[in-house]
Amino acid sequence: MSIQSINPATEEVIQTFEVYDEKQINQALDQARAAFQSWRTTTFAERSVHLHNVATYLRQHKEELARFSTLEMGKPISEAEGEIDKCAWACDFYADNAERFLADEQIATNATQSYVSYLPLGVVLAVMPWNYPYWQIFRFAAPALMAGNTVVLKHASNVSLAALAIERIFKESGLPEGIFHTLLVPGSSVERLIADPRVAAVTLTGSDAAGVSVGAASGHALKKAVLELGGSDAFIVLADADLDAAAQTAVRARFQNTGQSCIAAKRFIVVESVAEAFEQKFAATAAQLRVGNPLERDTQIGPMPRADLRAELDAQVQASVKMGARVVLGGKPVEGKGFFYTPTILSDVTEDMPVFNTETFGPVAAIIRAKDDEHAIELANNSQFGLSSNLWTQNIEHARQLARRIEAGGVFINSMTASDPRLPFGGVKRSGYGRELSLFGIREFVNVQTVWVGPATGPQMPAPTK
Ligand code: NAP
Repeated sequence: MSIQSINPATEEVIQTFEVYDEKQINQALDQARAAFQSWRTTTFAERSVHLHNVATYLRQHKEELARFSTLEMGKPISEAEGEIDKCAWACDFYADNAERFLADEQIATNATQSYVSYLPLGVVLAVMPWNYPYWQIFRFAAPALMAGNTVVLKHASNVSLAALAIERIFKESGLPEGIFHTLLVPGSSVERLIADPRVAAVTLTGSDAAGVSVGAASGHALKKAVLELGGSDAFIVLADADLDAAAQTAVRARFQNTGQSCIAAKRFIVVESVAEAFEQKFAATAAQLRVGNPLERDTQIGPMPRADLRAELDAQVQASVKMGARVVLGGKPVEGKGFFYTPTILSDVTEDMPVFNTETFGPVAAIIRAKDDEHAIELANNSQFGLSSNLWTQNIEHARQLARRIEAGGVFINSMTASDPRLPFGGVKRSGYGRELSLFGIREFVNVQTVWVGPATGPQMPAPTK
């Protein structure tokens, strides 16, 4: 069986890869397990040197690495290079902070001494998507490796050049053999990998459909799982918002990475009194987006990675239009070679339409009018997803109050959502569970071990207070 990388801008096959056979899979898992036994005994200082070396390698090979994602999944080249820089940042961040995040914590009890240690779990399987072919992997792998785990990657089947490059990055940066392995296998192999006794835990970044499979398989095997799934983030614009800033940011929030970001703003919920003005400003800026060859530096919208994904997006748009959505901009695939879709804005969107109640993973924005602030929050929460959200108003105190009522893993006030190694990242509802990045991310794949040292210095339970 083979898998192919296809250039979505030209529809030409770049390379065909044989999927790994049993022997190759077994060898990788054996090596990852063996490497764990020695890697777990290294000090934070030693691991830190390795991760800083990885960061340096990433910066030195930025152009070459970025080109793989542009060729395989159509990311505009300047965004692809920015992604490599961000991976380097995550490596440096965890190299510098992991020891502090995972230091033993003393807790006073009736023991002579009691404390908590954060110990690695073992081999963690990472099942990853194509949309940020490097960032998704590094934001998980940097903390997982710094915690003392080893990693086996099953990447999306359309980005094998990037998948193999990532394995090379760790090898050529001098990390010990077996610490990081790429397996070229289809999604259908994942359940078996999760069940394998050499695998301790699993992390998935992908669609909610894949989340259901991985969640079930990890539940069946009783293994820890983190699920980073889809989103349909609300971008709420209240009556007192700075409309120019909101509209400018809205374009980036929706169309960056050709609209293929889990945390892209997808539903623009605008209070009626400013809806017309916002729509005009948003559409005027979005109309300027340059669609084209992703290898050219001024391209802002590249092709979608696969014909089936573009067809799925177009079906969501056409069904919504049939139900009464108004096309403000675009609304159809670009004719000719490549899987391009025109930047699209639909207005007069209602809650029963696919562009509202399913995830649109491409350059399509939906504008929904809200009667008032209360209605805006109600609309925002009327989603099966809960990844992040954006809230625009000049009344920050009001925004803080409203933020507490938004059912999402993040609320970015007067900005767009962006992942940051210093802040936790993750969702609620069908956006998954668990967190990546920050202290929260590095504590997902550890054994929180309680150590109690006797003798007891008094009764376990404190005397009742009156
Ligand atoms: P996907 O189709 O779910 O694929 C993601 C990964 O899961 C791929 O490696 C895929 O392998 C594998 N996979 C697919 N179905 C599976 C199954 N039933 N069992 C086990 N593994 C399975 O998603 P995608 O199209 O690559 O990425 C887009 C989705 O990812 C969107 O929903 C997006 O919102 C989400 N995402 C979420 C985050 C986040 O942090 N929350 C970040 C980025 C993307 P194959 O390629 O071999 O099928």
